[in-house]
Amino acid sequence: MSHELTTNTIWVLTCTSLVFLMQAGFCCLESGLSRSKNSINVATKNIVDFFIGVFIFWLFGFGLMFGQSYGGWIGTTQFAFEDSSNAHWPTVVFLFQLVFCSTAMTISSGAVAERMRFRAYLLLAVGIGAFAYPLFGHWAWAHDSARNPAGWLGKLGFLDFAGSSVVHSVGAWAALAAVLILGPRTGRFTGDSNEQRFSSSNLPMAALGFLILWFGWFGFNGGSTLALNGQVPSIILNTILAGISGGICALLWELIASKQISVEKVFNGSLAGLVAITASCNAVNYPSAICIGFIAGVVMLASLSLLENRFKIDDVVGAIPVHGFAGVWGTLAVALFADTSLFQTGVSRTTQLGIQALGAGVCFVWSFGSIWLFMMLVKCFMPLRVTASDEKIGLNVAEHGASTELHSLLETMIAHEKGDNQSRADVDNFTEAGIVGYQYNRVLDAQEILLSDVKDREVRYRSIMDNVMDAIITINLEGKIEEFNRGAEYLFGYYNHEAIGKSIDLLIPPLHQKIQHEYSSGELNPQLVRAIGSRQEIVAQRNDGSTFPAELAVSSVLLADREIFTGIIQDISERKDYERSLNEARKRAEAASEAKSEFLANMSHEIRTPMTAILGFTDILLRNLNNQEDIESANIVKRNGEYLIGVINDILDLSKIEARKVELEQVRVNTIEVIRDIVALMQIKADLKGLELVVSFENPIPETIVTDPTRLRQILINLLGNAIKFTETGYVELRTRTINREDSFAQLQFDVIDTGIGISKEALAQIYQPFTQADNSTTRKYGGTGLGLAISKRLVEMLGGQIQVTSSTGSGSTFTISVNTGSLKEVPLLHLDQGSIKSAVTGSSQGISESVCKTIAASRVLVVEDGLDNQRLISFLLKKEGMQVDLADNGQLGYEKIMAALQSGEPYNFVLMDMQMPVMDGYTATSKLREEGYTGPIIALTAHAMKNDMDKCLKAGCDAYATKPVDKRKLLETIARLAPPAGPTDLTSLVANSDS
Ligand code: ADP
Repeated sequence: MSHELTTNTIWVLTCTSLVFLMQAGFCCLESGLSRSKNSINVATKNIVDFFIGVFIFWLFGFGLMFGQSYGGWIGTTQFAFEDSSNAHWPTVVFLFQLVFCSTAMTISSGAVAERMRFRAYLLLAVGIGAFAYPLFGHWAWAHDSARNPAGWLGKLGFLDFAGSSVVHSVGAWAALAAVLILGPRTGRFTGDSNEQRFSSSNLPMAALGFLILWFGWFGFNGGSTLALNGQVPSIILNTILAGISGGICALLWELIASKQISVEKVFNGSLAGLVAITASCNAVNYPSAICIGFIAGVVMLASLSLLENRFKIDDVVGAIPVHGFAGVWGTLAVALFADTSLFQTGVSRTTQLGIQALGAGVCFVWSFGSIWLFMMLVKCFMPLRVTASDEKIGLNVAEHGASTELHSLLETMIAHEKGDNQSRADVDNFTEAGIVGYQYNRVLDAQEILLSDVKDREVRYRSIMDNVMDAIITINLEGKIEEFNRGAEYLFGYYNHEAIGKSIDLLIPPLHQKIQHEYSSGELNPQLVRAIGSRQEIVAQRNDGSTFPAELAVSSVLLADREIFTGIIQDISERKDYERSLNEARKRAEAASEAKSEFLANMSHEIRTPMTAILGFTDILLRNLNNQEDIESANIVKRNGEYLIGVINDILDLSKIEARKVELEQVRVNTIEVIRDIVALMQIKADLKGLELVVSFENPIPETIVTDPTRLRQILINLLGNAIKFTETGYVELRTRTINREDSFAQLQFDVIDTGIGISKEALAQIYQPFTQADNSTTRKYGGTGLGLAISKRLVEMLGGQIQVTSSTGSGSTFTISVNTGSLKEVPLLHLDQGSIKSAVTGSSQGISESVCKTIAASRVLVVEDGLDNQRLISFLLKKEGMQVDLADNGQLGYEKIMAALQSGEPYNFVLMDMQMPVMDGYTATSKLREEGYTGPIIALTAHAMKNDMDKCLKAGCDAYATKPVDKRKLLETIARLAPPAGPTDLTSLVANSDS
């Protein structure tokens, strides 16, 4: 063997190995670019088509392609290839062509991946290897023994150095025919414009495959010289330049047009450059190679877009644009860029372009047409496409039962989805799927703990729902019952399954329920909103049609996707009956109480009438009695009668109040005057007991208030009376203040404070009860009826206020009352001191001239009064002013004492004459004195303040009159008014008609 032959043999065999390596490249690229569930299937197809390719090409493919040509159309020799030469060069060439054939067959496997049945693919490979590739190869590449073109295209001058068309386009157009028959993968194109990109299983592997392919291409193009000559380096450099420029073209396009750079497109751009340069790599300069590669990138991108967007052709790896369209471009580029010396003698570039175009066209028509017919024929006998479910689970499993870790993880997940909670994903810390499986198992464990917690809760919830006595019902927005517990079954007489899904109207007739009615329309109106969260009484209906009163509480619950309402329904029949009977009992009690009050009112009134008569006649009797013992007895009758009248008046008051027969007056009164009147009255009592009566103010105090003055006076007199009664030493204080309230008018508040015996804790709880006293002994010691506080409390409340007391045994008491003041708008507010009232009430000298005071102070006074208390009181008052006081028990004695004093030369300066007296009344005594010519001042004392009483007194000869109970101030004023001029009393002046 010559040196050259040896070198060439080594070179071509090396290139053969490189082209064989392209199988590995295709395997990585195509399986990396398809989805993982199909990756094994794609790889397997790549390997198996090599088996088929080798056998067919050996058996007859080589013969058809390179055997002796029959008319330029078909090879007719060299079937079942054998090589008898010593140098075995034909075998070298055969091997090189064999791997080319395999390459052409493999191209299609990526395009039809993921949906073509394995068996059908094998037939497709047979079709390409058996006739599509060898026959076109014969037309383009066959040669005679003189190495002149023998195929009809070759004879025309068709140039395709390493097979842009012969190898690449043939594979691609065959793939196109198969892809069109198969149709796109399920879900690849949904609707008109939407296309769904499926993710590639392993891009790094695809990248490796791409690089291996490129490496193989050095052999593919470099070996096509079939000699290691000077062309080889430039062929390889051209190959590289075209490859990178195709890749750059796609990369630039992605940078400009897309946000994210598609790795697949960059790979395919580069591969398109490699495919295109294949036809002319032996005949172009480097710039041309770059240009061809770049344009191939453009062609690839444009055709890819055309196929996908316009024709919805699903080519999984982009084989058709890369090998088919870029192959066509490469074939045409020969005419445009190649050295013309390669063209047949005299042929212009344009003519060559026509020849190239013809070749490319024939390639398409033949490869596409023959394979399309062939596959349609195959389709008549067997399905080409896998079933939809196989496509879904993936061809790895469907066709080979081969599973990946990822797939088994998915299977575990699907099993869980179907309810198998036992199995766990395979765990392997050194694979991605294994780590995901580990984490998935942890999630499952956590979920199981949660689930068991939820189950626990469900059990607890169920047991509550089933054991609670109340009916618990859940309804949805349409008013349909969704839950119906055992309590509801008992209450309504329906079984759970009978009620579920029915309208709530079944249980709560629309007549009686608003809520359900409203949410049956699906809208929550304000009434429903109001009903939610509150209780309302409704009428519910049982299965047997009977109705019963029930209480309904509704709460709304927001679930993840909707709102439901939970109602708790309680049968309140018993409660209603009980309420009814209570109501009746209350009405009866009220009626009885009213009857009692009315009875008391009537009785008091009835008793008062005879009592008035008893007292009246006792008075008459007293006037006529002379015997001291009889007078004493009649006086006892009178005292007890008066006490009884007091009691009856109290009872009458109380019963009137309780029978709500007291009508309040509302008049504007002068605050100071009211207080002054009360203090004036009580001052005497306090004086009698030697107690100080303090009047104090927490200023300011309104000048006037609107109230019922009689009732206010009654309350305060009662409280002050009690305070004086139950206090032996110390003082009694009336303290007044104004209380402003935010929400209504102000109130006037009075404290009645004493330093008396106090009230025990136990007694405090009772004191407002009628006829209740602190203890029995107090009754005896202090007297009283136990009605005063009962009346006061009720009156205070009627005046809009309250009564309170703080007290403890031995340390005095403080009673506090408040009364409404009415509006204080424009009412002047006063700043008062104790003096301003006290002086008005108690000060003797205020308002009376000093000389008069002196005159009064030196006076001798006779008090004609039968009542012991009044005798004591009046003489106490007058003595306090420095007067000399004598007493007479009746008119007769009074008359005698006055006359005796007159005659003795020491007449009385004033006489205070009670008008109602036994033996001789004041009228008679006065008239008699006047008849005797007595002119000294006589001041009538009368309990009746009526006008005709006054007239009667004056008519009888009195100079003035004062009312009982005695108002000290007024009395002193009256005395002062009648005071005779200063100096010794002119005796004669006292008897006007002494002469007569
Ligand atoms: P009466 O004073 O006519 O007995 P009340 O209703 O006014 O009836 O008073 C009821 C009882 O409350 C009195 O009997 C007395 O025991 C007690 N009480 C009232 N005020 C005072 C007071 N200021 N100090 C001590 N005890 C009082």
